Amino acid sequence: MLITAFAGLAVASTHASPAALSRATVDRPDDVSDQQVHVMYILPSDGADAELDTNGTIAASVANFETWFRGQTGGQGLRLDTYQGQVDVTFFRSTKTDSEIAANGLYVRDELEREIRASGFTDPNKIYAAYYGGSTSAPNTCGGGAWPPTLPGTLAALYLGATFGAGYPCYTPAQSFSGLQIMDLAIVHEVMHTLGFVPACAPHFTRAGHVSDSPNDLLYAGDAPWTPGVLDVGHDDYFGAHIPGCLDLAQSQFLEGNSPPPPPPPVSCVVPNVKGKRLAPARRAIVASHCAVGRVTRAHSRAKLKGRVVKQSPAPRTTHPRGTKVRLALGTGR
Ligand SMILES: [Zn+2]
Repeated sequence: MLITAFAGLAVASTHASPAALSRATVDRPDDVSDQQVHVMYILPSDGADAELDTNGTIAASVANFETWFRGQTGGQGLRLDTYQGQVDVTFFRSTKTDSEIAANGLYVRDELEREIRASGFTDPNKIYAAYYGGSTSAPNTCGGGAWPPTLPGTLAALYLGATFGAGYPCYTPAQSFSGLQIMDLAIVHEVMHTLGFVPACAPHFTRAGHVSDSPNDLLYAGDAPWTPGVLDVGHDDYFGAHIPGCLDLAQSQFLEGNSPPPPPPPVSCVVPNVKGKRLAPARRAIVASHCAVGRVTRAHSRAKLKGRVVKQSPAPRTTHPRGTKVRLALGTGR
């Protein structure tokens, strides 16, 4: 995320007083299955430990954005990784210093993703949302996200030690306790990128994963100051836009209440009608229908049906388990 200027938040603030769990360096057992967003607190090796994972700061930030998100969707939140009902935040300490990581510039996120993946944070059902207590050498950059398929990845990150404009800190932790702040939405912005939004097929698509239609949009990019407050202004680009073939957040498996599609039904044998066919084409039709050819016998028939199927069992158009044998009788012609 490139920041030119933050303006005031155009949304009502919500006070949050969530509890926080004790520190964990592992992903604790999940309360729910299915796809979910796992929150992390990452520090460079020399980063001061502000205990944002255990003092309630990250929990407050997450509660802020989740309340906002539910208000935008009519009730569905992002499906978050929780443990015993609280957001499960993993603490992760990099082996590299702030300046070593910051030297990656626009690719700080990529470096952090490499590090957590190497440490086993690779659950295929999860994307990771990191509050990173470090900075970047790239100017006016407060965070970063992947953007599959163009930029594959599973980590979204805020750079808490970065600055924008005339040295304004990107994130002021205490503000998350008094209500929704822009950076609470900035992490959602990066999470959305990491889920593949905004896809290039969206009508107001601009600048690699953003929309151009309103500075109030969560995923706006442009020359105006970003004043986020709305998830897809007009619902015409990425949430509930219902554009055929275009990725839509309303269908995302990362939203609460969206269940995974049912597994495809097992392939069945639907018996083809092979009466009147010679044996070889009858055999091909039966195999193509996921059935098998059973015993082949002979039966009296009129002369013109000699060598052709005159009886079959089971009957045509009946459905059976895959591989069911179809018995055939070929006409003798007399
Ligand atoms: Zn962005």
